[in-house]
Amino acid sequence: MAKYDYLIVGAGLFGAVFAYEAGKRGKSCLVIDKRPHIAGNIYTEQVEGINVHKYGAHIFHTSDKKIWEYVNQFAEFNNYINSPVASYKDELYNLPFNMNTFSKMWGIKKPSEAKAIIEKQIADLNIGEPKNLEEQALKLAGTDVYEKLVKGYTEKQWGRPCTELPAFIIKRLPLRFIYDNNYFNDRFQGIPMGGYTQIIEKMLEGAEVKTDTDYFDFIKENPDIADKTVYTGMIDEFFGFQYGPLEYRSVRFETEVLDEENYQGNAVVNYTHRDVPYTRIIEHKHFEFGKQPKTVISREYSAEWKPGVEPYYPVNNDKNNALYEKYRELAETRKDVIFGGRLGQYKYYDMDKVIAAALECVEAEF
Ligand code: FAD
Repeated sequence: MAKYDYLIVGAGLFGAVFAYEAGKRGKSCLVIDKRPHIAGNIYTEQVEGINVHKYGAHIFHTSDKKIWEYVNQFAEFNNYINSPVASYKDELYNLPFNMNTFSKMWGIKKPSEAKAIIEKQIADLNIGEPKNLEEQALKLAGTDVYEKLVKGYTEKQWGRPCTELPAFIIKRLPLRFIYDNNYFNDRFQGIPMGGYTQIIEKMLEGAEVKTDTDYFDFIKENPDIADKTVYTGMIDEFFGFQYGPLEYRSVRFETEVLDEENYQGNAVVNYTHRDVPYTRIIEHKHFEFGKQPKTVISREYSAEWKPGVEPYYPVNNDKNNALYEKYRELAETRKDVIFGGRLGQYKYYDMDKVIAAALECVEAEF
């Protein structure tokens, strides 16, 4: 007889929500993760009294009141509003593109002036059907916004010139003609005071947890450990890459403790010039309005993914989506396994969406 009702592979947000809900319904869960810690990509660890977002800056934002209330059961959120700054050569601009950005760029005050400049730049370019990302972005935002704020950043993110990237990557470039630096349009936003790891700790309170445990080794030795598996690792790896590997983009983080109180005056600064090798610098203390004497910064370098490197962003182009579809069909034949989360479903999920997906899965299961 199986020892647990569920084996949950991955102690990230998807696996933890599932474990919490299954536990509430009287089910027993064993949660394993190959990393040495729980919480997956939302893991935060304390360095110099500062909660460091080890796998990249995570800002919780949602328009779904139920999800906001759900996550607030596990932590108290502060009133952090994400307002990134872009650094281009020696110029600084507010993001997202809004009247503060345009006013700084062109020395104007009125929305009508900003609109007129952008429209004239777009008309002068006279681009027909965009053939690549560069043409698409120019057609949407004009020359200055593209050259200073989009081009270099996008080329670093994708590791290729914008002229060699497909136009569909940028469907919209929202331009805001109001003075508003709030990056997200969502109704609810914030950072859990004390970091994200506590949320996952609370969700996993009723489950047994084993870190440093890789599923593929573990299952060989414990084939009958549970009646059902919830698998949040890479779906292609689960099936031994039998149709070939799905592609990802990765990120490399270079984290440093600095002996100064305030390095850049903002949590997120994007470096939009091609010559600066990193895409962003995150100064973690500003997520929680920290006053510690030291500071911790992380430089983010966009990186090619290869087996052995942490996969971050699925590359959802036609080729990969078609490949994923084949794996999904294979997954359908495994009624004993639920595939969930960003790797199990090969989909970029924000945190609110991954919670919603896990809750939907629970709904379908029980
Ligand atoms: P994960 O957190 O990746 O959890 C999966 C877990 O499975 C991992 O811990 C992994 O180690 C484990 N695992 C995989 N394979 C195995 C195996 N074979 N055996 C055992 N364990 C295994 N969302 C937002 O809402 N706001 C943001 O600001 C934001 N910023 C982001 C920044 C970056 C750089 C990235 C990459 C994502 C960001 N996200 C953000 C998205 C957020 O990280 C995800 O929504 C969330 O982490 C997904 O949870 P998950 O459980 O699906 O995946």
